[in-house]
Amino acid sequence: MQKYYPPEPFRIKAIEYVKSNTRAEREEVAEKAGFNTFLIDSEDVYIDLLTDSGTNAMSDRQWAGIMMGDEAYAGSRNWHHLEATIKELFGFKHVVPTHQGRGAENILSMIAIKPGQYVPGNMYFTTTRYHQESKGGIFTDIVIDEAHDPEIDLPFKGNVDLDKLKRLIDEKGAENIAYVCVAITVNLAGGQPVSMQNLRETYELCSRYGIKVFMDATRCVENAYFIKEREAGYSGKSIKEIVREEFSYADGCTMSGKKDGLVNIGGFLCLNDDELFVEAKELVVVYEGMPSYGGMTGRDMEAMAIGMKESVEDAYIEHRIMQVRYLGDRLMDAGIPIVKPVGGHAVFLDARRFCPHLTQNEFPAQSLAIQLYIESSVRGMERGIISAGRDRKTGKDHAPKLETVRLTIPRRVYTYKHMDLVADAVIDLYAQKEKVRALKWVYEPKQLRFFTGRFAPK
Ligand SMILES: *Cc1c(COP(=O)(O)O)cnc(C)c1O
Repeated sequence: MQKYYPPEPFRIKAIEYVKSNTRAEREEVAEKAGFNTFLIDSEDVYIDLLTDSGTNAMSDRQWAGIMMGDEAYAGSRNWHHLEATIKELFGFKHVVPTHQGRGAENILSMIAIKPGQYVPGNMYFTTTRYHQESKGGIFTDIVIDEAHDPEIDLPFKGNVDLDKLKRLIDEKGAENIAYVCVAITVNLAGGQPVSMQNLRETYELCSRYGIKVFMDATRCVENAYFIKEREAGYSGKSIKEIVREEFSYADGCTMSGKKDGLVNIGGFLCLNDDELFVEAKELVVVYEGMPSYGGMTGRDMEAMAIGMKESVEDAYIEHRIMQVRYLGDRLMDAGIPIVKPVGGHAVFLDARRFCPHLTQNEFPAQSLAIQLYIESSVRGMERGIISAGRDRKTGKDHAPKLETVRLTIPRRVYTYKHMDLVADAVIDLYAQKEKVRALKWVYEPKQLRFFTGRFAPK
């Protein structure tokens, strides 16, 4: 069957030139960057798939909105627009603005976790787990086992394992669970979605025990598309209706506007509970800014209000998901080992199978990411043993089953032709995979070490 990849539902009004460089120049760049793609300058990259965070292209409507920024210290009209938009789309009672997603995670962790409490989640996310642990929480993974296996193809591979959750509650006692964190989609599993049925059942189980559910809403629109595509009873619903239903199964959420919000900066925290809202407002003034801007400018808030409305338009999200799938399909057709199925925001190369000549302690994903850059000027990032960090108590490396290179597609930025270039580069490198060499640490930061760590060939 001929696959359908929808054309761009937009035309281009402003362009940004990118320059190409030579392989010899890129070798030098890689060495200077300590073999860490996070430390390469943007100017030295031709196709930048480091992240989909804050790399979105804005629409003419958003740029026009930016001119309407009201930069008053308090009570900006753009805040009122943003707050009303979030309440309408997500359905929560209260909104607290923050400078980005982690600002919301910090505040939620402070108000909802007591030291020693467990915080179950469907796989960890780097900053989310950091904030939970730094407030004394104990992160516990409750994603289904299949999410840790790159080769199992399931429609909703990000689902919560309800048995794991129930066992944890029975073992530790409901009073020792701070809340359940449900990420939609699951970034580190490969952008894998959670089904509506699973969201509903998780919420029902938690409600029975009086445990709150907070969602990591960062890619909630992409999650909604998968529900529409794959779950019985949803094909006739609009993305907007599905997003709204997703959040009916939560007590609140944290959101990074830099992803599905279609902006370059911004975030927020949503809450239904009045008391938690008061506490959150008291903390936001300390860490972020007034509860009517939370670290964002008026124009940022206007751009996000408009971006969030655009993100739930069906034509936008269909093209978004299908462009990512196009890259995945081209790689799979060529026999490249990737995480299956292709998720919402990225294609993940399976570095264990890509580099069978390296052990996990030789950092195959870190090395594959930098080698792909050297060969092709395409920048991806490591999501494996380096990103997983060390156990806070034992100091040992977390050794995740998934050892991947993430090729993350910025929203509305690249064309299918760019995807072809990326696919060809990966296919080329796979044919000479022994070029991917073992690496060792030169400098290992204590926190979130993947951002600024430095390496050298072993
Ligand atoms: C990016 C991200 C965050 C953090 O958001 P920032 O805006 O980068 O602070 C949290 N959770 C997930 C799943 C993310 O992808």
